[in-house]
Amino acid sequence: MDFELSDEMQSLRDSVRRLAVDKIKPRAREVDRTGAYPQDFFDAFRDAGLLGLCIPEEFGGSGAGIVGLTIAIEEVTKYSNVAGLMLLLTRLPTGPVMIAGTEEQKRRYLPGIADGTSKSAFGLSESQAGSDVAGMRTRATQDPNVEGGWLLNGTKCWMSGVRQADWYTVFAKTGDPSSRAHDSITAFIVDRGTPGLSTPRVDKKMGVRGVDTGELVLEDVAVGPDNVIGEVGGFRLAMLGLNSMRPIVAARGIGLAEGALMYATQYVSEREAFGTTISSFQGIQWEIAKLAVEIEAARLLTYRAAWLADQGKFTREYVPYLSMAKYHATELAVRASGLAVQLLGAAGYMEDHPTEQWYRDARQLTIVEGTSQVQLGLIARGVLNHDLWWD
Ligand SMILES: Cc1cc2nc3c(=O)[nH]c(=O)nc-3n(C[C@H](O)[C@H](O)[C@H](O)COP(=O)(O)OP(=O)(O)OC[C@H]3O[C@@H](n4cnc5c(N)ncnc54)[C@H](O)[C@@H]3O)c2cc1C
Repeated sequence: MDFELSDEMQSLRDSVRRLAVDKIKPRAREVDRTGAYPQDFFDAFRDAGLLGLCIPEEFGGSGAGIVGLTIAIEEVTKYSNVAGLMLLLTRLPTGPVMIAGTEEQKRRYLPGIADGTSKSAFGLSESQAGSDVAGMRTRATQDPNVEGGWLLNGTKCWMSGVRQADWYTVFAKTGDPSSRAHDSITAFIVDRGTPGLSTPRVDKKMGVRGVDTGELVLEDVAVGPDNVIGEVGGFRLAMLGLNSMRPIVAARGIGLAEGALMYATQYVSEREAFGTTISSFQGIQWEIAKLAVEIEAARLLTYRAAWLADQGKFTREYVPYLSMAKYHATELAVRASGLAVQLLGAAGYMEDHPTEQWYRDARQLTIVEGTSQVQLGLIARGVLNHDLWWD
């Protein structure tokens, strides 16, 4: 058993830590205030080679895997969850392509993500089908004019990076629309310029402002057979892509919690009340200690989950371990950001401090990519099936 990061991963962590302090921290509040896409973050990530962390070397990335991406996201989200989301988006839509795509699809779509010449987004959710994926109404029917081609119709919603993306991974029903079977759903790659595709509206959201979230409308969008990811009806394989995302979302939670605790600790060490600094009160110290324990527990769960995912261990029997990381780290982010507001008192509630932003940003994390309740369901199923068992 080895709990040390490799030399390579330590140097990645150190360099991203410097980049986060130099480039992300000074701009994080402004990005939240204006909601404008932080192209400077993207450029800094590109120049530092971070956009290709999870992309294999043969497709232009650095092959640092999910462990590498997790470490980088943890560092940048100490200051900005938008920055973490931008890095996450290098893996969410490319995951199905990497897991189930053809060699040609990988050659065509992955190098652009790694070198920053293209961006992509992920379209699974619909207004009536978030957790209940099988309830999706977007349909793919066979194109009568092109052999093996498909026509996509439907509306995807809450899609992160919808207006910035050059291509999309989109899920649609190819089987019986009323079927709830996973093999009734297929994943497609859809290029932004394809006729019939539009992004008519973006959401006004409470946090993680800077990367748009909004609708992708598909009206008779024609795609060829080469745009099918994996097999027709191969949704199960693409869903495995989501399992492998758990540590990456968890990293956004632990980074936020670490940033919030460090900030609040600094504050209580300087703030005076009753003739001393408030950090000298045992009640405050215990809150700091409890959060520190939880952060380290979440880091261990998250790093193990990242390691499992890099070993290709994201199939059913590993789901509880992956879900635990996402559940624990994102719930922790909510608690940590709440505690940070509390430790700063009125100051923490005001825009003068980043605590109010972290409080808003953290709320997203327990909802996206499988809510906390969905993760608990998956963990419970794992225990009931004895995938997670202790004898
Ligand atoms: C900022 C943001 C960005 C997003 N980005 C993307 C994106 O890029 N691509 C994309 O496809 N989607 C995206 N989403 C959508 C996200 O994945 C969904 O919001 C999520 O899957 C939950 O679905 P829902 O919102 O429809 O909630 P619902 O499924 O309606 O759930 C509502 C509540 O009911 C609970 N619930 C539901 N089912 C169960 C159950 N079986 N047992 C117990 N409780 C249950 C949920 O946990 C939740 O608390 C984004 C959402 C947000 C907020």
